[in-house]
Amino acid sequence: MYIANHPTITTNKGLRPTYVEVDLGRLTDNYKAIQSKVGDVTVMPILKANAYGHGLVEVAKHMATLDVKQLGVAYLEEALLLREAAIQLPIFVLGGILDSQVPMFLEHDLTLAASSLEKLKQVDEAAEAMGKRAKVHLKIDTGMERIGVHYYSAESLLEASLKCKHVEIEGIFSHFANADAADLSSARLQIERFEEVLDFYERRSVPTPLRHMANSGAILQLPESYLDIVRPGILLFGVYPSHEVQQTVAVQPALSWKSTVVYFKVVKPGHPVSYGSTWESDHNVRVVTVPVGYGDGYFRSMSNKAEVMLSGKRYPVVGRVCMDQFMVNIEWDSAYNGDEVVLVGEMEGERITVEDLAAWAGTIPYEVLTNINTRVPRVYI
Ligand SMILES: *Cc1c(COP(=O)(O)O)cnc(C)c1O
Repeated sequence: MYIANHPTITTNKGLRPTYVEVDLGRLTDNYKAIQSKVGDVTVMPILKANAYGHGLVEVAKHMATLDVKQLGVAYLEEALLLREAAIQLPIFVLGGILDSQVPMFLEHDLTLAASSLEKLKQVDEAAEAMGKRAKVHLKIDTGMERIGVHYYSAESLLEASLKCKHVEIEGIFSHFANADAADLSSARLQIERFEEVLDFYERRSVPTPLRHMANSGAILQLPESYLDIVRPGILLFGVYPSHEVQQTVAVQPALSWKSTVVYFKVVKPGHPVSYGSTWESDHNVRVVTVPVGYGDGYFRSMSNKAEVMLSGKRYPVVGRVCMDQFMVNIEWDSAYNGDEVVLVGEMEGERITVEDLAAWAGTIPYEVLTNINTRVPRVYI
């Protein structure tokens, strides 16, 4: 057991009483469940945004112990952190890049996304100047209207890519806007558009680069989109991308978020709790304080809505969530300083999920996970 951000401390004893616990065994199981769903297709784990809050470097190191062939991240900086941590695996940076970043990609052997003709040419020139060969995936926009060349004008990019002398066109990819929806018509249209673009290679009788477009939603719902590589993010961490998505792969959440009671008091009627005095009881209640707040990523919008677990029982968060603390009404039950409080996770058969937090906060599970601040130590089991 060790803690990211506190590399010299090997257990959580005496440290901050609040921590995120990541179950690496569950990550393994989720990865294997996804791999068995997609068969022979390559699974590229997407570890952007601190591996969806689970800890970028530690999760990457764990992935490297499985038979993972390539990792994906969003930003150059994330890829550089992985290289600094001596991760040798191929790393694909999904996002848009600036010209000034191109030499860093080449220097650290990172794979980049070419999302326009100009970018591709710059990469080719930079690679020539540095005497290197750039590894590139072409980005095709089939309906997201984010980065990438539109499917209806992709031919010139593909044509130009055949002429680049210092670039290896390893892949070609697109991204879904609605693969986690109940209505899959727009996702299917995106697949058709991507297939049209890919026809280019057959018409020209040149080898097709590795094709990919499936995120978690598509892995669950659109086997026809698997192609050569799939790119699961949230599903790998055991969370489904939406309420309506078909849960065709069984996964389990890898993350728990825990803290301990640090204070206990009796609160009388007429004595409201926390900033803004938004909650008060009409009878005497026992209220405990938990040392977690919105400064850790426990959303303030969950004030008077969220629940936590103590001794396997759910209790409501009362009053406003502060930056570093929040209060819980345990009515007349007992609790002691040092008692465990579960914010996300399981306790004696009860479970609070990131979906619950997302509902209380009016957001999606992705935002709940990626908002857990680096101030919260990560513990790996
Ligand atoms: C984030 C991202 C993914 C993974 O998305 P999930 O919905 O978490 O599976 C895949 N591809 C791209 C381009 C992304 O930006």
